Parts: sequence; C-alpha cells; structure tokens
Amino acid sequence: MQVTPVVRTLAKNLETPFLLMDLSYVKDNYYDILNHINNVRVFYAVKANSHPRIISLLNALGSSFDVASRGEIDKLLSLGVTADRLSFGNPIKKIEDIKYAYAVGVEYFAADSEMEIEKIAAHAPGSKVYGRIMTTGSDSDWPLSKKFGTDVEHVISILRYADNLGLDAYGVSFHVGSQNYNVTNWEKAIKEASEIFKKLRAEGINIRMINLGGGMPVKHIKDIPSVKEIGDVINKTIEKELSFVHNLEIFIEPGRSMVGNAGIFVSQVILRSRKGNEQWVYADAGVFHGLMETIENFQYEIIVEGKQDDKKEVFTLAGPSCDSVDTIYDKVMLPKTIGYGDILYFINAGAYTTEYATNFNGIKAPNIYFVEDFVLTESEYLNDDKGLEQDL
Ligand SMILES: *Cc1c(COP(=O)(O)O)cnc(C)c1O
Repeated sequence: MQVTPVVRTLAKNLETPFLLMDLSYVKDNYYDILNHINNVRVFYAVKANSHPRIISLLNALGSSFDVASRGEIDKLLSLGVTADRLSFGNPIKKIEDIKYAYAVGVEYFAADSEMEIEKIAAHAPGSKVYGRIMTTGSDSDWPLSKKFGTDVEHVISILRYADNLGLDAYGVSFHVGSQNYNVTNWEKAIKEASEIFKKLRAEGINIRMINLGGGMPVKHIKDIPSVKEIGDVINKTIEKELSFVHNLEIFIEPGRSMVGNAGIFVSQVILRSRKGNEQWVYADAGVFHGLMETIENFQYEIIVEGKQDDKKEVFTLAGPSCDSVDTIYDKVMLPKTIGYGDILYFINAGAYTTEYATNFNGIKAPNIYFVEDFVLTESEYLNDDKGLEQDL
C-alpha cells in the first residue's frame, strides 16, 4: 500500500500511532492465491490481523480460517463464520479448548505429538487430524522452526497412532517460516510430506490432505517471489510428488501475505536526542505498540513525510515506553533533518503489528482505520492538507 493523498491527509488529522488498512488489497490477495494455486482451499491465519472487518470480508469471499485458541474460535463464530470453515491449527491446545472446538463443530485439528493425539482422541473423538512436519525455517525472517512440527518418521507414527485411536488420520501440514523468500522451501516440504502419504496409504490409512501452511512474503526492503512464482512451484511439485493421491485436498494458511500489504502503520517523532556520537529518534509507537516484530530486526521500509529526498544518516530509533527493550532499530538510515512531529510511515505493515500491541505504560494500543471509511473532497485530495470527513 502506497502513501497516497488519503494516507497523507489522515496522517495529519488523526492521532498517531494508528494502522491504516485498505480492504481492497485483502480481497486481491485472496484471489491472487486462488488464481495461482490449483484446487486450494484458503484458511486465513487469523493471528496476523484479527480485525472483524477483515474476518467478515474474507468470510464473505468464501475463505476458511486457521485458528489457535478458543478466543479466536469465539470471535469467528460471533462474526457469523460457521464451524465447518475452521481449522484448529495450533498443535498446542488446552483440553478445554479441544472440547469446546469439538462441541461447536470444528472438524480439523493439528498435532505434532502423541499426547496431543491422545487429547484429541479423548475429547474430539473421530475428528480429522493432520500431523505437522518440522522445517528449518531457513530463508525466512520469522522462523517458526523448532517449536512446531517433528520429523517425517515421527509424523508417520503419530498419524498411525491417531488411526489406532479412532481418529481420521487426515493429512500433513508444514510451515516454511514466516516471510520466506525461497520458493524451494515449499518444494522440499511437499517432497517430505509425500513420503508420509506413500508410507501410510500403503498401510491402508486414507491420508488425503496437504496443508501448505503460511510463509508467503510481503514486500519490505528485499525482493520477494510473487504468489504466482510460489504457486507455480507448489503446483508442479504436487503434480510430481502427490499425483498418486486421487482424493487429494489442498489447504493453505496465509497470514502475513493476506494482510501485510493492505496496511500502513503511521507514527510520529516525539523526541530527537544525542548520546555522545549516537543520534536517537523516539517515535510514539515502539515494540509494545505495534512494532513488535522489530525485536528480531524485522525490517520495514520507513518513509518520513516530506523528507524522503533529504540526505540520510544513521540513527537509533526507539519507542516511547520506559523499557529499553522498546528499541525499534539500533541502526537505521533516516533523514538528517528529522525532527519533532515528523510522520513516519511503516509500509506494508498490516500483519503482526496491531495484533501484538499492548497498553503498556498506559500508552494505548494503536487504532485501526480503514481507507474505505473516509472520503476526501476534491480540494482535500489536491491540497492534501485540510480536514476530512469520516463517513461511518
Ligand atoms: C502463523 C501461522 C500461519 C500464518 O503464517 P504467515 O507466515 O503469517 O503466512 C499459518 N499457519 C499456522 C499454523 C500458523 O501458526
């Protein structure tokens, strides 16, 4: 999402920090996946941005949803999403949550351990379960690697166990790591999944679903493969490795790539200072108020309103709260002239920003606004500096 006149006008008129979203991007992202990955069923990973407007839009478009907790299930049900569109993809579930999901009609459950299979068999008997394989998370900016999934042999034995306990051993899932730049990682994971299909189907276990997880990237400071490029590799690999599965179902769980480019995070400079030779800039939002992913040095493109052509220097950029963890970047290039009140645009920040935001230090979490709610008059559009009408 670009810094358009409406973005500029809102940045001048609304209290910062806030996240500005444009739902038309979400819609385009949804169709981009359907157009480039064959026979796929989309489960939006709600944790990327769970705003009701996003959920409602995707529900209306026909999307399904990947959920991780009772809270997410409740939220979706309250928005009119039916339980047959939910997949409980978190392999770490409370028994109470499993019982609840089963009672409301959720059919799909993920697992990567024997104990999780036992919990599901006891409290959601007969459900469809899929086993998650571990990936290295290499070439991704936010690897999920070790915490989730297990090796191929172990997934085989877990699914066999599920079958023994009367569950429907349904499929295999993986996640290549969030913001993954390398298309061959999907290829590798599908190949591993196909070993599981071969082994279990030879034993008469009717495993029939591959879940491609999330991981598709959003444009920040590095080049990214397009959905088409990723889709071409996925289609080709599934054709090659899984064509023997005549009843194959294909799931995908995009989170970041569904909403990332649909948002701009807007913050403002509230202090500039010097410590020895180091120059510091403090913004009114930091890691506790929307920019959490920067703790692992996740790199956003930052645009400083009106100063993009100024010469740049190295600064430390930090947030407003009284905690030193609240440092966004130790070293980042910003305009030399940056000063109080300058607007900072974090581009394509619709995913994993507001969702993580807290009210730490009594500084309230950023609002989310939607471009669709604002209309600019022609003069506002041209001058880009007047008030604006909110059309709610
Ligand atoms: C977070 C998550 C996703 C979404 O990942 P992205 O990298 O944001 O696309 C998908 N599936 C599961 C199980 C997840 O936990």
